[in-house]
Amino acid sequence: MRALKILPRPAAVACVLALVAACSPAETASVPRPGATATSSPSTSASTSTGPRTTPHGPPGEQPRTGEVRRVQRSGGLPPVISSIPTRRKVVFLTIDDGWEQDPGFVEQVRDRRIPITAFAMRDAVEAKGTPDPAGGPGKYVGAGKWGYFRQLRSAGVAIENHTLTHPNLRLLSQDAQRREICGSSQVIRKELGTRPTLFRPPFGNYNTDTLRAAKSCGIDAVLLWTATVQPGGKIAYQVPDKRLRPGDILLLHFRPNLARDFRILVEKIERRGFELGNLQAYLAAMAVDR
Ligand SMILES: [Zn+2]
Repeated sequence: MRALKILPRPAAVACVLALVAACSPAETASVPRPGATATSSPSTSASTSTGPRTTPHGPPGEQPRTGEVRRVQRSGGLPPVISSIPTRRKVVFLTIDDGWEQDPGFVEQVRDRRIPITAFAMRDAVEAKGTPDPAGGPGKYVGAGKWGYFRQLRSAGVAIENHTLTHPNLRLLSQDAQRREICGSSQVIRKELGTRPTLFRPPFGNYNTDTLRAAKSCGIDAVLLWTATVQPGGKIAYQVPDKRLRPGDILLLHFRPNLARDFRILVEKIERRGFELGNLQAYLAAMAVDR
C-alpha cells in the first residue's frame, strides 16, 4: 500500500463558511441530495480552526489549490448544510460517525499513513451507553477506550466534531431539546478533549430549521451531510444513480467491528480509482467568501 503524501502546512483554516444558497428550506435530509453543497446561509462569525490539530508535519490530507474550490455567495444567518465539496479535482473526504467500536488498529492506520479524517462523536456511543448498531456484527472493542480513544484519534490528526449526546431524530424535538443535544455534546467534547466542535452532523441526516438555529447558538459553523456511505467490507453505497465516486464526495463510515480491515480496503479502493483524500477543514475554509 503506498503511503499518502505528506503535505505542507496549510494556510490557517478559519472555518468561515459562506455559502450559497440555494436556500432550500431545510426540511428533511434523510437521503442527502447528491451534489448539493449548501442550503442556508452562513454564519457570520469567523471561528477558530476545527481542523486536525497541527502536528510537526501539518494536518494530513490534500489541501485545495488556489482557485480549485468554487467559492460561493453567502446569505442569511444560519450555518450552511453541506453534502459535498464543489471541486473538479479527484479528491474525496472521509468522515466517521458515532464511536461504539474503538479498534486500536484503526488509530494506528490513521496515524501511520497520515490519513485525513473527520470524526463525528456521539456521547452515548463513545461512553458505551445503550446498544451499539448491530449492522457491523459483534463488537470486540465496544467502548474500550471511552474518550481516551478519541484523544488518541485527535493526536493522530483527526478532527473531533459534534454528533449529539443520544442520537435522536432531531426533527421530532423542539428547538430547546435540539439545543440541549447539540450544545451538550460540544460541552462534553470540550471537557474531555479540550477542543470545541464547529461542525455538526445530525443523526440520520435528519434536521429542520430549528436544528440550524440551535446549532448556530451552540457555536456550529456548518452542518455536514454526505454523498455515500461505506458498508462493512469497505463497500461504498452510493446515493447517486451512476454509482461512481465523484470529485468532492463526502463519505460516511461508522466505528464498527472490523473497521481497521474495512478501512484499509476502502482507502486502497479510493486510491486505485485515482482519487486523493482531502483535508475537509481546509476545503471548507476555501469555500468561504469575503464578507
Ligand atoms: Zn450516527
